[in-house]
Amino acid sequence: MPLDSKPIRADAPRKGKKTLIAGSRPKKKAVSRRHKDNLYGQIEETKFRRYIVHDLPRYRQYVEEGGAEIYSPAELDELEKAGVSDRLPPRATGYYLDLAKRSTAVRNLIKARPEEMDDLSGESDPSNQLKYSPTPGLLHKYELVLLYVVRACSSWCRYCYRSDFLTGKTGKDTASIHEIAEYIKGHNAKVESGEITDKPKIREGLLSGGDPMVLSNRNLFDYMNGLAEAGVEVIRIGTKELAFFPQRFDDRFFAMLDLFHELHPHVLVSFMVHFTHPDEFLKLDADGQVVRDGHGRALRNPVVEKSIKRLRSRPFVTLENQTPIIDSVNDDADTLLVLQQEMKRLGVNNHYFFQCREIEGHRAFAIPVERAWKLHAQSQAGLSGIERSRFALSTEAGKTELVSVIEGDERLRAIGGELGDALADGLVVFRLHRTPHEDRQNDLIIARRNPEALWITGYEDRILYDGRKPDTESKWGALLAALGPALMQAAE
Ligand code: SF4
Repeated sequence: MPLDSKPIRADAPRKGKKTLIAGSRPKKKAVSRRHKDNLYGQIEETKFRRYIVHDLPRYRQYVEEGGAEIYSPAELDELEKAGVSDRLPPRATGYYLDLAKRSTAVRNLIKARPEEMDDLSGESDPSNQLKYSPTPGLLHKYELVLLYVVRACSSWCRYCYRSDFLTGKTGKDTASIHEIAEYIKGHNAKVESGEITDKPKIREGLLSGGDPMVLSNRNLFDYMNGLAEAGVEVIRIGTKELAFFPQRFDDRFFAMLDLFHELHPHVLVSFMVHFTHPDEFLKLDADGQVVRDGHGRALRNPVVEKSIKRLRSRPFVTLENQTPIIDSVNDDADTLLVLQQEMKRLGVNNHYFFQCREIEGHRAFAIPVERAWKLHAQSQAGLSGIERSRFALSTEAGKTELVSVIEGDERLRAIGGELGDALADGLVVFRLHRTPHEDRQNDLIIARRNPEALWITGYEDRILYDGRKPDTESKWGALLAALGPALMQAAE
């Protein structure tokens, strides 16, 4: 197969010239590795050949050379004209492109769409993350901190909610583990001494990016070891590499992981994996049909299955799946049902399904919030208690679960005013599943339905009760305003 032979070096400077991307600065890696030659000497690297096809000119060459026909020449012309690469260049590994030949869903996940450029409304910095970044490369909202550790994934999902970081548009930088470890130790000391009272101790660290699994083993170890030495109890690794390039989980990676465990036996390592569709891990025949055993049970893609089994064989490792619900990729209830059943059967817990974030260009990928909720709810009906998951929006207020959509009753419009309209149109009920504000945990947001809404912003002018607000008066403020006309009418 004629493919790009360059292995990924996402964080490497270009040959002959040190190119600094927006916000780049020295990471003081040597400080974290000081006096640890013996340790780092034990970590071996593999030079992976991911055969990444990156951006439209390379896709054109790839298709001409007989690669998977992801795009026709006319489609490539159209995409170039639309300028999709300015938003996010299309990118995929040879492995994933091969899978895309047999699965429309997989193809749609990485295939650029001209309509991405039709409406670029959306947030340049989704969920206002920079507001929660006390030091470059770090987000600190909860007892968990998130670290941006690398500016690439081996393939790029078109709906990527970190595209601003991958393309460097918002100036976010990668984290220096030396700085982050100092921050964590300082914060935790202040919590213990009582100097900080509005935030808990930092117990968890989530390595994110981009995909930490595109880092070398030594670079990945830097972050894991640094967090563990700073006192973190749980290290999460957010990765889609089990779908994009499962061969990354090789002997040398597991040797590094086991070495880490030997050094830090009390630290849990949780892989936050990202499977969007069952075709990413089930065994498909040449026509894209799932291969089954004599009892009708789906067989698994052997490379993915082997990597997952090796991860699961470590008692200090857990696996949790989370993914958005995306137009033309996984937006049907049966797909979501099978995804959850098969994940659990592989030993991967079903964590969250997310609404597609309000990134720039999201209108090409997002389905309405209430439709996504409905699909998720339908999928839950066919699942046992241990297979279930939550549907949530990752908003500035935290993980906001959509718990119910209540059908309205036209007769209630007679009440009049905004309240009558709300009860006639129906209500949506969100729950603050995870919020940085201790006093608002599990509080609700209740709003009039908006079947067209693609994000919580589509409900902001319809809210009747807002549990995100700090006090009772402001929580009920919108309902009191809505009740005004109805009360006045009743008094007449
Ligand atoms: S794996 Fe995650 S960070 Fe990478 S492109 Fe997909 S959504 Fe973005």
